[in-house]
Amino acid sequence: MDVVEQLKAMNARRILLQIPDGLKPSAFRLFNMFSKDFNVIISSQGFYGACDIGNKEIYDNVDCIVQFGHSEIPNIKYPKPVIFVEYRNDVIDLDEKIFHELKRYKSIGLLSSIQYYDEMLYVAEILKGLGIKVVIGKTDKRMKYPGQVLGCNFSAVHSASLNVDAFLVVSTGMFHAIGAQLASDKDVYLLDLNEKRIKNIKSDVDAFLRKRYARISRALDAKKFCVLMDTKIGQYRRKLAEHIYNEIIDLGMQAILVTADNVNPYDIENLRCDAVVFTGCPRVSIDDEEKFNVPVLTPQEFKSLFIKRSNRYIMDEIVSVD
Ligand code: SF4
Repeated sequence: MDVVEQLKAMNARRILLQIPDGLKPSAFRLFNMFSKDFNVIISSQGFYGACDIGNKEIYDNVDCIVQFGHSEIPNIKYPKPVIFVEYRNDVIDLDEKIFHELKRYKSIGLLSSIQYYDEMLYVAEILKGLGIKVVIGKTDKRMKYPGQVLGCNFSAVHSASLNVDAFLVVSTGMFHAIGAQLASDKDVYLLDLNEKRIKNIKSDVDAFLRKRYARISRALDAKKFCVLMDTKIGQYRRKLAEHIYNEIIDLGMQAILVTADNVNPYDIENLRCDAVVFTGCPRVSIDDEEKFNVPVLTPQEFKSLFIKRSNRYIMDEIVSVD
């Protein structure tokens, strides 16, 4: 059933369209197309993913949200019906020769984000043709498809780790590959679709860890913490924030609990804290680290610095939200 039929079937009259930046040039076309049957509002705000359906003031005033680009996060209880129109890139033809260095492995776990999911299934056939066993790992209830990864969830890696010799991440960027490597002891490769080549990512992970440890170790002298929770529906981890808050107080340091919708470096600066522990999207702490004047730690980073020292870096992953 197409989107318009689905909306009609639910008797929707007022709808909110969430469109990613790449699709915003099509805003007039989409608005006009949906306006034939519905009362349409387009959100001009950027949105993070299926974890983010905008703020309550807006979604409370529509019957349905149509979000373009991402796949549903099944274990979120959305307060309004949401139709997810997944965006999947066209499959790019690849020369099987680029996979030859993987022939030394008997089995490979395949991973990808939703944009490259069809490409991943295509790559699975190439690897099988080379005599390599392909494993597409099961995912937890935050994920819609096996083998799918998000920046906040690597359950496909955990479930397949014991059954594979290495992983191959089908993508264009490094983040998911680095996350997969941090979640597993097995070798991880990136199939870089821009460059059409396979890359072992060990040196990138080492560089990531050096940079990240340099950043978070600045929090070791902190005495005043903001424990910041994001109010986005798929990032809201209040219980975790309260747990971290209590740990900080038990350690004899000061802490306050803070909420934000979009984390703003200026707001943080005004709160005059020495460090932040952020329980929202793990990518904010890492991708935006330069924007903040104080270290912004993930909950896992806080624990490894202050609660249970560990030599192993653990990515913060979201399994479920409150
Ligand atoms: S929490 Fe972050 S990584 Fe997870 S779905 Fe949302 S934007 Fe993506």
